[in-house]
Amino acid sequence: MKSPEAVPVPLLDLKLQYATLRDEIRKVTDELYESQLFILGPRVEAFEKAVAAYVGTKHAVGMSSGTDAQLAAMMALGVGPGDDVVTSPYTFFSSAGAVARLGARPVFCDIDPATFNVDPEKLAKAVTPKTRAIQPVHLYGQCADMEPILEVSRAKGIPVIEDACQSLGAGYRGRKAGALGTFGAFSFFPSKNLGGFGDGGMVTTDDDALASTLKALRMHGETSRYHHRLVGGNFRLDALQAAVLHVKLPHLDSWAEGRRRNAAEIEALYLEMGGRPYQEGGLSFPAQAPGRHHVFNQFVVRVGKGRRDALKERLAARQIGNAIYYPVPLHLQECFSYLGGKEGDFPEAERAARETLAIPVFPELTAAQKRFLAFTLAEFSLE
Ligand SMILES: *Cc1c(COP(=O)(O)O)cnc(C)c1O
Repeated sequence: MKSPEAVPVPLLDLKLQYATLRDEIRKVTDELYESQLFILGPRVEAFEKAVAAYVGTKHAVGMSSGTDAQLAAMMALGVGPGDDVVTSPYTFFSSAGAVARLGARPVFCDIDPATFNVDPEKLAKAVTPKTRAIQPVHLYGQCADMEPILEVSRAKGIPVIEDACQSLGAGYRGRKAGALGTFGAFSFFPSKNLGGFGDGGMVTTDDDALASTLKALRMHGETSRYHHRLVGGNFRLDALQAAVLHVKLPHLDSWAEGRRRNAAEIEALYLEMGGRPYQEGGLSFPAQAPGRHHVFNQFVVRVGKGRRDALKERLAARQIGNAIYYPVPLHLQECFSYLGGKEGDFPEAERAARETLAIPVFPELTAAQKRFLAFTLAEFSLE
């Protein structure tokens, strides 16, 4: 096959999205500058209402980041020393970091290699009388298999915190991520599908009492001015971030559609160009499990025959953006050595860390960029 035109393909280019919203964003941020009301207030409340309506929960509480959303959710449940929280070893650090910061113990269970999310059978086996919360991660934009996880939760009376940081808008059997467990934790880090102009996060819940505890916790546990029922932190979402995010929210579904289309198109082009399967040293593309609506925050392929790092170098040489999410599973992180994790404990998480690569999928990719990306992947697979 003849090589298509070589064009740079960034992993993500947020300038293109901003260009379409510049006037609207400048209008709301200018209003905020004039008001000089930067902490919580009507902008944050309006955005919280909009997110609760979008996700389908009674409450949504703005937080300073996805990490703080996870932390506050665990604090609201009273997670602390002597408690275990079961989660995935193959995720962003904070899924376990938030647990450890509260003096509790992160307990890992291996992932399903097809979806990169926790394997519900292994999760059920990791639950003990010390388990205070279960925290499945909806990785890359696809929900974990929640039904069997919620069965364990109901049977044992253990709350579920969904780490939905990469998955605002993702669906599971007709419901949205963040509306399935006791809590949903979301991140508005700029590279998430709904990204702010800095850090931000949100916790969703249907529980009135837990929602009011979350609101207290983000204000140092304050229940009325300078009266503290709890020890919390400063976990507030900035009004400036809420204003920007509220402008972006109505576009979220169409951006996700663009990502889904691009993922399907790049895979189809790869196959059309003769790209080889994983077993032969080529690629396997992400599987969408039944009943799932995948929003492709990341488009992560698996590279066969130990060739992941070689592909990474090839893409870099051709100015095609890529990244490894995540190169070191959490049970092998230096800071968690006290937990006694070792190589071989979670073979699928370890294999994913060796074999996966995130490639561009953002909605504004051009036809020429998709062709050049698919061609580069297919050509590599045939070598
Ligand atoms: C981004 C992310 C977080 C943390 O969110 P921040 O806003 O960066 O603190 C947590 N878990 C997962 C899976 C994430 O992708």
